Amino acid sequence: MSLEVDKDKLIHWLQELIRIPSVTGNEEAISKYVSQELQKMGYRPQVKENNVYIEVGKEKKSLLLNAHLDTVDVGGEWMHEPFEATTEKGKIFGRGASDDKGNIAAMLEIARLIKDKSLNGRLVFTFTTGEEFGTKLEAKGSYLLSQFLKADKALVLEPQTDVEDNKINIIYGCRGIENILVRIKGKGSHTGYPERGVNAISKAVEVLTELEKVDFHTVKAESQEIKTICMPIRVNGGADIFLVPDKCEIMVHCRTAPEDSMIFDQVDSVCREICGDNYEIENLYSAPGYIENTDDPLVDIIRQEAKRFNYTTQNRFAGGRIDASIFKAIGNMPSFCMGVGNREQMHLVDEYITVEEFITCSEILKNVIFAYFS
Ligand SMILES: [Zn+2]
Repeated sequence: MSLEVDKDKLIHWLQELIRIPSVTGNEEAISKYVSQELQKMGYRPQVKENNVYIEVGKEKKSLLLNAHLDTVDVGGEWMHEPFEATTEKGKIFGRGASDDKGNIAAMLEIARLIKDKSLNGRLVFTFTTGEEFGTKLEAKGSYLLSQFLKADKALVLEPQTDVEDNKINIIYGCRGIENILVRIKGKGSHTGYPERGVNAISKAVEVLTELEKVDFHTVKAESQEIKTICMPIRVNGGADIFLVPDKCEIMVHCRTAPEDSMIFDQVDSVCREICGDNYEIENLYSAPGYIENTDDPLVDIIRQEAKRFNYTTQNRFAGGRIDASIFKAIGNMPSFCMGVGNREQMHLVDEYITVEEFITCSEILKNVIFAYFS
């Protein structure tokens, strides 16, 4: 199959998608739009809590393709209206232009191109909600869908192209997240007689200092070492200025290396060592990280198809958390991430996508899908 993507359709879809605001938690309108467009092509999309999906073709080889419907908030002062999709000097501006509506448009175009063609396998399209931060793991669309939609592999689409360098990043893993809240109990006393009290803030400082010395979980990925990052992100405590503080809360934010199952116990044991029984500890948020072997035929296909359009590829371990980790952890599908859209543009004010790259990378993506099923 050598059908080329239709530039006008891609641009039309992208502009329409940008014009439907879909900040996390408000995905209903965009969900309706995506299902209507799929219906117009003759599909019967399924919708679950604003997550849209279709399954095309029959078993044998299978692949799940995902893009997220939500965006981060507008934030800051824009030169271009965030929901108007204005075009200027070869760029389309708007919230979500790169993250992740270019990929939604590309998926719609692929769905259109494969309609009524015989596919040598089964392709699952998922358009999911709640990807951006602030959403509990269990409330994410990817969490919901990956419980019952299965495929041999998942390809999660995010803006992962370095446009200036003609380079497509292939993400093969990311760190997980643990937010651990520690409530340290001290003993209040007159500040003139500090020996009668226990200063909870001083205890917190000791805990944080000790945490810096812990040898956290590390994994080797390609040529780099991925280590768990652990840092205090919020401290709350103290009392009246004449009182030795009797309480201090610290929020420890951890970016965990894949398969780190020790982090909570490590933080807990530092607290116990310093505070004895005088603390409470709670895990407020937990999301898995993951790592994939890059010696995978799908990675080879992406590399080959990119090369045909003079794009290079680079295997990369993601800085932030990506939904590929959920398709892996919950859906048990080996997962990679790539996609159209400029990696540098994610979440920025005056976010844009470069039209030329958008079209070329949509073509590359379409070719990757066709090559996977050939
Ligand atoms: Zn995104």
